[in-house]
Amino acid sequence: MGAHAPSWYAASLPGALNRVREPLSGDTACDVCIVGAGFAGVSAAYHLSKAGQRVILLDAERVGWGASGRNGGQLHPGFRQDLQWFAETIGETFAVQIRDAGEAALNHIDALIDESSIPCDRTHGLITACRKTKDLDEEVAYNTYAHERFGVEPAQVLDAAETQTALGTGGHVGAIRDSQGGHIHPLAFVTALAEAAEKGGATIHDGTQVTGLDASDLRVEVQTNRGTVRAQHVVLTGNGYMRGLHKDSDARVLPITNFIVATKPIGAWADGGILPHGDAASDTRFVVRYWRPTPDGRLLFGGGEKFSKAFPNDIEAFVRPHLAEVYPDLADVEIDHAWGGTLAITQNRLPLIRRLAPRVTVAAGFSGQGVINAPFAGKIVADALSHDPALLDLMERLPCPTFPGGTTLRGPILFLAMSYFALMDRIG
Ligand SMILES: Cc1cc2nc3c(=O)[nH]c(=O)nc-3n(C[C@H](O)[C@H](O)[C@H](O)COP(=O)(O)OP(=O)(O)OC[C@H]3O[C@@H](n4cnc5c(N)ncnc54)[C@H](O)[C@@H]3O)c2cc1C
Repeated sequence: MGAHAPSWYAASLPGALNRVREPLSGDTACDVCIVGAGFAGVSAAYHLSKAGQRVILLDAERVGWGASGRNGGQLHPGFRQDLQWFAETIGETFAVQIRDAGEAALNHIDALIDESSIPCDRTHGLITACRKTKDLDEEVAYNTYAHERFGVEPAQVLDAAETQTALGTGGHVGAIRDSQGGHIHPLAFVTALAEAAEKGGATIHDGTQVTGLDASDLRVEVQTNRGTVRAQHVVLTGNGYMRGLHKDSDARVLPITNFIVATKPIGAWADGGILPHGDAASDTRFVVRYWRPTPDGRLLFGGGEKFSKAFPNDIEAFVRPHLAEVYPDLADVEIDHAWGGTLAITQNRLPLIRRLAPRVTVAAGFSGQGVINAPFAGKIVADALSHDPALLDLMERLPCPTFPGGTTLRGPILFLAMSYFALMDRIG
């Protein structure tokens, strides 16, 4: 079973949360078996056990080992398509329902943090920084549209000088600042939520690889390298790390990789320095760059994607040019931690949250917005399996087309499409 990625998060995780659980041993039964102990799976386990269901949660590695324990920690409210897209593509009523779901998702993570007293350093303030006037104009126009048409609380608009002060670096024509977004310590969050799920009665096994499913109208059998779980339902939350368990999910959800560095302590999050108010920040590129300070004064900076499973040989060298472009003064800064992870995307970047078969439900493909949306997806599925399918019914209306190319060409076609957009970032 794998150790956590060599991240600043793992290095700073409170010791009590850093435990390994026993693998499954032999054959057993439960009401709901969940595959994958990231945000989505752990949240589903938490809510299902609260609702009185017997839950077994299995992870091939350990709780929080996947993207959930090693991401940027940024809370980006909403979905990767905006309300205008939903209104034009699906309809105004649906856009209103999605707006409400987005707000509920944000409230949900805050409620989880409060009700389980999760020590994850939740902050408020998310800056979207623009290098081009065109990008800023679009951000501001959408801000106005979403407020006037859908009553969304408007974000604050920062001019170039205000942006420079807020970020602690120049080079941007302006920004918008959303006071509801922010950042958390994602590994502390997911591991503490797992403990809360266990207190509620869920059983969690690390080191247990699910190798196959046998689902009928009556029950589902979950096969693993450690034994078999018979259940009423199975929930698939393996995201970018899961392949081969259901062909429908494999055809709609593909893995990509993304990389982060953490500098040595440089006095970030202090007056007159970098991100003095503790904001999280990102830019408007297709291959987005995102950064945030840590409580011990480091800058945690993510940038650069690979459209395959392979990691670069030298992650620090891979990310450093992105860091240097945004913070030229930090071009040679000492890096203490460099790591990568696998997330999952869908063709239109909307998540796949749906019933794949009568006893098989999937929640995956959160793209870069899983910190808020994956835990909420876990609740949506838990509610549907215990008492209220309304939000799952809504999520099933999100279009989630299959990637073109069939089993063999899907990966290469994705690589070409994403490389094109990445090139546009560089020359556009
Ligand atoms: C570097 C990076 C930075 C990111 N930054 C942000 C950010 O700042 N903000 C944001 O909102 N999102 C961000 N994301 C995306 C976000 O982390 C994910 O969307 C989210 O964590 C997905 O959670 P999950 O529970 O679906 O999957 P994961 O956390 O990936 O968990 C899946 C788990 O399933 C297990 N698993 C898979 N297959 C099997 C199997 N067959 N049997 C048993 N176990 C299995 C894996 O071991 C893994 O632990 C980032 C992702 C990465 C990689």
